[in-house]
Amino acid sequence: MNTRANPLAPDWLLPPQDVNALDVALWPDTTAREDDGAVRIGGVSVLELAEQYGTPLYVIDRATVVAQAGRVREAFSQALATVDAELTPYYASKALLTADVVRWMRDAGYNIDVSTGGELAIAIAAGIDPARIGLHGNNKSYAELRAAIGIGVGTIVVDSLDELRLLSAALTDAHAEADARHPIADRQRVRLRVTTGVHASTHEFLATAREDQKFGVALADVDEAVAAIRAEEHLEFVGLHSHIGSQIFDAAGFDQAIGRLLEVHARLAETGPVPELNIGGGFGIAYTEADQPRSIETIATDIAQALASAAARFGVPVPRIAIEPGRLIVGRSGVTLYEVGTLKDVQVGEGADHVRRYVSVDGGMSDNPRPELYGADYHAALVSRRSEADSQLVRVVGKHCESGDIVVNDDYLPADVRRGDLLAVADTGAYCFSLSSNYNMLPRPAIVAVEDGEARVLVHGESIETLLARDAGLTGI
Ligand SMILES: *Cc1c(COP(=O)(O)O)cnc(C)c1O
Repeated sequence: MNTRANPLAPDWLLPPQDVNALDVALWPDTTAREDDGAVRIGGVSVLELAEQYGTPLYVIDRATVVAQAGRVREAFSQALATVDAELTPYYASKALLTADVVRWMRDAGYNIDVSTGGELAIAIAAGIDPARIGLHGNNKSYAELRAAIGIGVGTIVVDSLDELRLLSAALTDAHAEADARHPIADRQRVRLRVTTGVHASTHEFLATAREDQKFGVALADVDEAVAAIRAEEHLEFVGLHSHIGSQIFDAAGFDQAIGRLLEVHARLAETGPVPELNIGGGFGIAYTEADQPRSIETIATDIAQALASAAARFGVPVPRIAIEPGRLIVGRSGVTLYEVGTLKDVQVGEGADHVRRYVSVDGGMSDNPRPELYGADYHAALVSRRSEADSQLVRVVGKHCESGDIVVNDDYLPADVRRGDLLAVADTGAYCFSLSSNYNMLPRPAIVAVEDGEARVLVHGESIETLLARDAGLTGI
């Protein structure tokens, strides 16, 4: 095995001891390389998956989703029990939303967060009790609010004073039109999203609690907003909401946010009930060997301790706590399968070892724009066969007309990777299908769930015909 690092590689990336090994921290729980050299996920060979559904293909290991959902819920429930508080877990559906995923999460004891009329419609159509839905969004329309009230959505997260006025108008209209056949709840539960001013250490576009961005009500305006909510006869104030950002590893951001939230929470509790506090999601996962997240149990314990100490400081009990993980539940459950096409070696600077190999695959930024959006790193492996070759530094790139169309910026793959091989990219369960596009008129891939040796389509893939059928200049209608 080649164990010399390529000088073009980042410091954190070391050549693998074994190019055929699969790091359990990065792949779905059921991932295994079989005797024939091909990888199976959920007991299904990637060769069969590619044959039956084509590539690129999103593959979701149902067992990993269910296990991870259970572990997160259990860890937070137990940690909160030690500070006499209870948990309401929400799944942030924008990470990965299909009808079956909604049902898996419902059955795992989660409520579902949505942020648009479209996400709401899928969750409802999947059959979840509307009372278990939370509606987010910084620009909910009147129609979305009316629909949510009419359906009986459990909680609406008010994002601004402006939206509060729109919600109030929607409620008035809804009550005027409600009748015995279309009843609505006397009072709509709402949370208030606040910006704690915490600068979470993550990518700028993933940090959502700084003052100078679009989400939430500034802490200075919270008292006014809550007074307005409490003055509405058809609104019930449930508590504050804060989501400090996404892909967060360190405890400091959560600690700081919890301190600031409980101070306001305690003040509001002096003038009326504040039964809950929603601390959002954003818990980071490992995309490469460089990422070393704390264990879920440690995160939960740290948060419970931060809540207990802040609650004691401000003289209130720890309220019921809601969390909203997305990526943490589904991220590692998903992989994307690609077929290798063009290879190109580029001499970068002087020296025989200063070579970067570009490995092109048959998808790219249309099925995963995160590398372009956030500079996100990923890890890839050769999964269609075992290799006896040395490792070679590669950049895995897509087939789009952008030089930024990078799938995996830096990784080592076997040096004999060639056209027709299958690569899998790990940790694509969250925010890949959700962010997919038709750029360069690539049909969006199917999502397939695997479990116990069986594969099942969750969302059908598109074809060239799908794309042609939308173009009114071709259909004439
Ligand atoms: C996106 C989002 C989440 C989930 O974030 P993850 O990083 O996937 O855990 C939770 N709450 C809100 C309000 C969000 O916008």
